[in-house]
Amino acid sequence: MELMGDTNSDKVSHILIKSKYMPKTYPYLLDTLPYAHDALEPIIDRETMEYHHDKHHQTYVDNLNKAMEANPHLQTSVLEELMDSDIPAVKNNAGGVWNHDFFWNAMIGQGSEMSATMKAEIDKNFESVEEFQNIFEATAIGRFGSGWAWLVQNSDGGLEVMSTANQDNPLSLGFKPLLALDVWEHSYYLKYKNKRADYAKAWWGLVNWEMVESLMG
Ligand code: MN
Repeated sequence: MELMGDTNSDKVSHILIKSKYMPKTYPYLLDTLPYAHDALEPIIDRETMEYHHDKHHQTYVDNLNKAMEANPHLQTSVLEELMDSDIPAVKNNAGGVWNHDFFWNAMIGQGSEMSATMKAEIDKNFESVEEFQNIFEATAIGRFGSGWAWLVQNSDGGLEVMSTANQDNPLSLGFKPLLALDVWEHSYYLKYKNKRADYAKAWWGLVNWEMVESLMG
């Protein structure tokens, strides 16, 4: 499969070259989870995963396909390009598909330890792992309404924490996503109810640091 066409922007290449994700085009399909629905227990419960992946993520896929049917001139664009569309149904659903694909792969049952290299990068950019986690959790809790918290790499190679609203993605702002936490209520409400802070704190036990490190560059 050819990875890049001449029409792809540098921004798209930026993530795809270092990423294991393949560029996707219409028609879109829901990827299966990289683990069983109960693999993230007890931090994220099976029922939440069934609704979140099988229903919510599927709906973004279905609605993106509908938006593509209505906009055939966009059917050859890759998903990352669609996230910058001026058409809300295209932008929002493309982001919904991309963000959830990324989120599932950013987690691993039983969690993982940072390598010494990864820890050194975190220390360099945030003083300490604890300080990084405090900033990330505060950013996740502080996102008003629905959205995402991210660890990103800026164009100078530095690491930053940011949040986006709805299904917006840091790629659209020129940042490369390394790690994402979904803070839409559908991602935690069944188990954590209104306690987003408890969800954000517990979630560290699921982070796939090997993936995060593989995306840095
Ligand atoms: Mn979600």
